[in-house]
Formats: sequence, structure tokens, C-alpha cells
Amino acid sequence: MAACRSEPTAPEAIRALKNRLTLIDGHYPSQLMDVVLAIDIGGTKMAAGLMTMAGELIDFERVEIDHSLNAAGVFAQLREIVESQLARAVGHHQARPVVVGVGSAGPVTPNCATVSPLNIAVWRDYPLRDRLQAITQLPVYGDLDAKALALAEGWVGAAVGRKNFMAMVVSTGVGGGIVIDGQLLDGATGNAGHIGHVIVEPNGRRCVCGARGCLEAEASGPAIEAITGRSPTEPTYDIMVRTGKLVGRAVASVCNALDLDLVVVGGSVALGFGATFFNAAQDSLSEHCQLSFSRGVRITPARLEDRGPLIGAGAVGMRGMHRNARGASAR
Ligand SMILES: [Zn+2]
Repeated sequence: MAACRSEPTAPEAIRALKNRLTLIDGHYPSQLMDVVLAIDIGGTKMAAGLMTMAGELIDFERVEIDHSLNAAGVFAQLREIVESQLARAVGHHQARPVVVGVGSAGPVTPNCATVSPLNIAVWRDYPLRDRLQAITQLPVYGDLDAKALALAEGWVGAAVGRKNFMAMVVSTGVGGGIVIDGQLLDGATGNAGHIGHVIVEPNGRRCVCGARGCLEAEASGPAIEAITGRSPTEPTYDIMVRTGKLVGRAVASVCNALDLDLVVVGGSVALGFGATFFNAAQDSLSEHCQLSFSRGVRITPARLEDRGPLIGAGAVGMRGMHRNARGASAR
């Protein structure tokens, strides 16, 4: 697709537009809308999109990760959709990307300087931030995908107005982002919230992280397929209930420990299993949250659905830009 594209590449298109506009009036006209280029790196797919400063996704495209490629090859897949979105910003939306925000499967180092997504084996300590800065010529900020989702759901989704909640993804991987007292937790290395590695089955399946019985090893899409021999897109009732119960068990421990009152869950497995999953998760959560403060904690579907990860990535970009403007260390 990239090889036969006749449109100019995004940096070329932006440069051409800048030159033309500069000739007209010496600066950008105000009718160009500032947008964030949002990028989501998952275990099976990557996506890039354009988000307004109000959290509205106005364009996006996705690509299935080709796991037979090497590190540079996977990045070339990402580069193609990034450049396509940058070109569409200028050509179709009268928009000017001013910052790049990334949400990536973990582990990551601060701002996705390097990423090592467990399900992208060829990316280990992959210097994603430098690579993206080089092709976009824009400032790049990044964070874990599930932490990005927590920002999005707290900003324009199911957790608006909530100060103590967790957002999580149950998909190819299982991750989470935790907000306490209105602040998204970073932790010592920026990886706080890895709910996928809470143990739910002592002596359970071996996890990609090396431990046994992690939530991710029992409830992720690949885990479900390995355990049941069925695709998670064709679940039985029992699979949906078991997955819901395990997720409820894991988040109950976190809610009891951290005094959270809401858990927002997205990801293709959870959202695909629907009410059966959420009812089982709520039953399990209620059963295990019996303390006076944790009684009544609720688990609810992510409101932003499949737009959540990109809106979250966009929010990470905006946060980085604001922190930078304030002169804070832009983590
Ligand atoms: Zn694990």
C-alpha cells in the first residue's frame, strides 16, 4: 500500500502547506484546527488517529501486526498509518497535528522512550519515541495503554467526575490504570496498574511474565483460546462467566487495598462477552468486597468502547504538552 501511494508523505504535505500559508500571510491561519495524533500499540493491532482538543476522534485507521516481521518491519507498518493520518489531517480535516500521544502495551519506560510489549516479541527496549519523533517532527509523549484508557474514561467516558477508580483492558493482554485522589498512578518506573499480573489461580497456567496463575494467563484472549480450544469471539456461557469471575476476583483485591469505588472495563474480550461477563464480574467483586468502605464498588463497561485507547493516547499527548508548557518534568 505504501509503495504505490501517490499522495505526498505527511511531513512533505505539512511542509508544502506551511510554505503555501506562510507565503499568504506569514503564519498559520487560525482556521486550521490543532489536533493530537494519537497512536495505540496493542498486542495484535496498532492504530493511529486524529483527536480534537475536546477529546473527539475525527479519523483513524488500524493495522494488524504482522508477527513474522522484524522490529523495523513492525515499525514500518506503524509508519504507514501514521503518515496516512498526518496527510489526512492536512488534506481532509483542515487540521494541524501539534503533538503525538502514544498508548502502548507494556512494559514501557517513561514516555515510551522504549517499549517492550509482551505480545510483540520483536520489540524489546524498542526506541519508539525517537522513531516517532523522527518521522513526525512533533513532540511525542507516551504511557501504558491501560493508563491512557484511565485518562480517557475519566475525561470523557464512564468515570467522569470520579476520583478513585481503575480502568482496565481485557483483550490480547490484560492491563489497568489506577486513579487515586484524582491522580493517575505512575509508580517507581511508570508501570503502576499491571492488574493482569495479579494472581487469581494459585498454581494456574504459566504467564508470559514468568509467574503462574496471573489474571492475564487465565482471562486474556489467547489464554481463553489455549484453555478452551475456542476463539474468544465464539465463547460458551461458561467461558464468559469464568472470565468475569476471575476479573472480579482480581479487581476486588485491588479495590480493597486501594479504596476504589469504580472499575471501568474495556477491551475486545470483556466488551465482546457483554452482560454475562459483567454480571459475573460484579457478583465476584461484591462477594469479595465486604469491608465497610469497599461494599458497593461497581464494575461497568468502558463507555468509549473501541475509541477509548486512541482517545486515551490523545489524552497522554495533551497531558505531555501541558506539563511541558508548565515546565514540569514531562513524564
Ligand atoms: Zn503474569
